[in-house]
Amino acid sequence: MAGTRLANDLLGVEVREAAPNKTRPGCYVSRGAGVLLTLAFLSTLVATALLVYYYSPGTREVHHPAIAPAPSNFKGSNRQRARPSVPPRRRCNGTSRKQSGRKGATRTTTTTLPTTTTLTTTTEEPFEDENVRLPETLRPLHYLVKLQPLINGNFSILGYVEVEVEVLHSTSNITLHIADIITHNDTVRIAVPGDVDGPGFTILRHQYDHDLQFYVAHLQDPLQEGARVVLSMEFEGHLNDQLHGFYRSTYRDADGTEKALAVTQFQATDARRAFPCLDEPGLKATFEVYLARQTNMTTISNMPIVETIPIADQEGWVWDHYDTTVPMSTYLVAFVVSDFANLTTTANNKTLFRVWARESAIQQAQYASEVGPPVLAHFELYFNQSYPLPKQDMVAIPDFSAGAMENWGLITYRETAMLYDPGVSAASNKQYVAAVVAHELAHQWFGNLVTPRWWTDLWLNEGFASYVEYIGINHVEPTWQVMEQFVLNEVQVVFGLDSLESSHPISIPVGHPDEISQIFDRISYAKGASIIRMMNHFLTESTFRQGLSDYLDAFQYGNAEQDDLWEYLTVAGHRAEVLPANLTVKIIMDTWTLQMGYPVITVNRSDDGTTATVSQERFLLVRQESSMDTHEYKWWVPLTYTSQAELDFNETQPKVWMRDSQDQLTVSDLPTKDQWIIFNLQQTGYYRVNYDLDNWELLTSQLLQDHTAIPTINRAQIIDDAMNLARAGHLSYDTALGLYKYLGTETQYVAWAAALNNLSYLKDMFARTGGYGALKRYLLDLVVPLYESVGFEEREGDPLLDQYKRQKALSWACQLGLQDCLHNAATAFAKWAASPENITLISANLKSTVYCHAIAEGGEEEWTFAWRQYLNSNVGSEKNRLLSAMGCTKHVWILSRYLEMAFSESSGIRKQDAFRVFGSVASNEVGSGLAWSYLQDNWEAIYEFYGKAKSRLIQSATAHFNTMQQLKELRLFRRERGGDLGSASRAVQQVMERTKINIAWMDTNYALIVDWLDRNGYSARLSSA
Ligand SMILES: [Zn+2]
Repeated sequence: MAGTRLANDLLGVEVREAAPNKTRPGCYVSRGAGVLLTLAFLSTLVATALLVYYYSPGTREVHHPAIAPAPSNFKGSNRQRARPSVPPRRRCNGTSRKQSGRKGATRTTTTTLPTTTTLTTTTEEPFEDENVRLPETLRPLHYLVKLQPLINGNFSILGYVEVEVEVLHSTSNITLHIADIITHNDTVRIAVPGDVDGPGFTILRHQYDHDLQFYVAHLQDPLQEGARVVLSMEFEGHLNDQLHGFYRSTYRDADGTEKALAVTQFQATDARRAFPCLDEPGLKATFEVYLARQTNMTTISNMPIVETIPIADQEGWVWDHYDTTVPMSTYLVAFVVSDFANLTTTANNKTLFRVWARESAIQQAQYASEVGPPVLAHFELYFNQSYPLPKQDMVAIPDFSAGAMENWGLITYRETAMLYDPGVSAASNKQYVAAVVAHELAHQWFGNLVTPRWWTDLWLNEGFASYVEYIGINHVEPTWQVMEQFVLNEVQVVFGLDSLESSHPISIPVGHPDEISQIFDRISYAKGASIIRMMNHFLTESTFRQGLSDYLDAFQYGNAEQDDLWEYLTVAGHRAEVLPANLTVKIIMDTWTLQMGYPVITVNRSDDGTTATVSQERFLLVRQESSMDTHEYKWWVPLTYTSQAELDFNETQPKVWMRDSQDQLTVSDLPTKDQWIIFNLQQTGYYRVNYDLDNWELLTSQLLQDHTAIPTINRAQIIDDAMNLARAGHLSYDTALGLYKYLGTETQYVAWAAALNNLSYLKDMFARTGGYGALKRYLLDLVVPLYESVGFEEREGDPLLDQYKRQKALSWACQLGLQDCLHNAATAFAKWAASPENITLISANLKSTVYCHAIAEGGEEEWTFAWRQYLNSNVGSEKNRLLSAMGCTKHVWILSRYLEMAFSESSGIRKQDAFRVFGSVASNEVGSGLAWSYLQDNWEAIYEFYGKAKSRLIQSATAHFNTMQQLKELRLFRRERGGDLGSASRAVQQVMERTKINIAWMDTNYALIVDWLDRNGYSARLSSA
């Protein structure tokens, strides 16, 4: 999955399920009622009729013609023909069960039945005493799934499933995952393969466990080890509007007619909402899918369609029958039923490659259609492994919760992650599309072909895709310098999160769906990507790729764990002699994945400079006095370095390994004291570096004399390290801010961005203090020359990073209230308001700044104009910009109204975008208090709106908190809402720690920085004379 650069919160258990109550089988539809249901459906397709007949007692007929296909359709030869053999599983499921590492008090739950299933286990807080895993008695081999979603009806999904399983250990139960599904109990049959309608096995009773999302069929006689049986059943699901499972999305076409579509989002635990299944990533099987559609729609699934069959007695309906898939996990199965248009091309002259969007937006899919095929082809080379499916579809979905989802052969996207309009969208939107496309295509191998055995190893999937996406973009857009941007966008961003005590290891035991959804966060993605990049560099490119390719080869169509990958990389490393014989990748990488945080390396040079002692300790922004954490944090650190004399920044293999048992080591052969040294070349290591003061001074004067002697990435690293070391109290702000003096000659975006990003923290902390005026004057003196050098107008043919630099400069200049910038923004906006149909009047890259500041400086009229443009726009990225900009107004009543609109169903703002509105209001100085009050006052309503707690709302409402009063409010909030925080509980912990850190920072540094500003000519005091 690709985040919207934010965690994708997935919902836990829902209440729509028919009944968790194990003693009321009457809640489930009997076979007779099911037949009447079908007949009603057949004759009228009217939703109300379904309700009328739903609970009626009925006849004893057994067939369900609308759903259960005629035997010749699917039990015959074509299924046998299409199914490839299932490769043997390399390890039994027990490994992953063990790895999910449950600790703490144990509770045993035993069903009341005479048969044997025992649901036993323990879990860590806060999801006490529940083993959410399936029993290890069965493995699925093949599914036949038939679904008829009534998109233009009452949103029911009429379904039929056959699951063929192999019995691994003798058992009298068959347990499947199920959620939000009504089963037709009388239709459940368990029989031998090839004779699904035969006499079968006697089912004693059906059991449902609402919390575990289990359906259990209890058999009279045990199934023997090695046996194969098929469970079949009819059921009814629901096309929900909560963006998970099989759900519905809507849009207006060019004529303004409302259209509906149905689409899936199954990762991590929502395939069970579409059809009963063994919904764990380690339980791979093949899938044969039938999707019913009206003839004016199309369907797409993971594989190509093999035939389309009219549905008997249902005028205007057909079944699309899909080819059987390769063995795959349930979370990667996908369906789309829509009336979308497509653009068709091929990758490597063999793989059909189609991109889909609503008809009126299909031209915006052109860029995705251009970059997708060459990226796919490049990954075939990179992974040394052919893309295994005959086709790849990519679809832009109007309502989508994450950024995108890598379903095998059918990738789904939020519109802004796939659609790009060259006239309207900014360069950053284009890069975002390229990044997400490359990310999802990387998953086709890393995640889909080889899949983590359990969600604990999710980071491996996401870290890999998040790293390799840069390699994909670099291939298709080599001028973008994305490998430089990596440091800025990933390493330096995640350093910020991972320097809190409330961080988490990227390899983390998870069980409950809420726990699983919590780990789809920036740490899993960006730290995962950063340490994989580090590994790429310490192993060297060719060794890294060799190990990777061998690993994919060995585990294709199967499941693996991080240790499996480490093993293959170790073998490659030893063979190429890039890894010492007594060292393994596992020894090194375990220190980065199993413990949280990262080190700061402190380099202290001897009096003559020629040797240095190097020590490591965990980098924390603040060490909490109350901390209960007694873990000894130490890492295997690849030390790379160069000097003023050597100037070799390209050797990114370690000169020395610092062991996890070493507090300190000595490096020799350094130059004399008058020449600087730099550690962590190209910032390939996941660590910060501090030096003795003399070396910092040498680096500062080098930057002032000729900054180009040090490459851009390392300039960005020096600034980011220094400012964070200062923030944490390891270095004086005198030294850190002293580095900024060289920026007058800096021309590179990446270095500027690192510098400005670090100043935002100071700006945010000072925003409500008396010292803000002085800081603002300092910042203006820094930013105005940059603003003047880039100019307000775009220049044709500017390289991408220059465009980004201009965006950054303008955004800062206008934020700091530079009159020239505000005037230019207002003028450009007024020109547009005079001819609103001309949406390319303002250069796409500058729109965000122009819109925001024109609305901030303007009144109701400007706001209303923006709202109308928002409603009229057909381009997702433009809509996003307008949504964010409308939160810039300084009128409190407009902001209040805007918040109310964000969380109401019919305002015109999509549910997926409410967080954007909220975040924009929260980051506005006038709106931040309002947003926080709104969240507290409307907690229940917002919870209801999403069906869960949303961590990103809490994060954005409290981002600038830095007072004791705010901390008290947060504590109260946690006390009152603790019960329903669910997957947002870690976020609350993190924002509380962040607030404490901010308070401590203000106590220690505010006065110091005011003094530094004063000494540098920016006094906070007004003259009294
Ligand atoms: Zn992903």
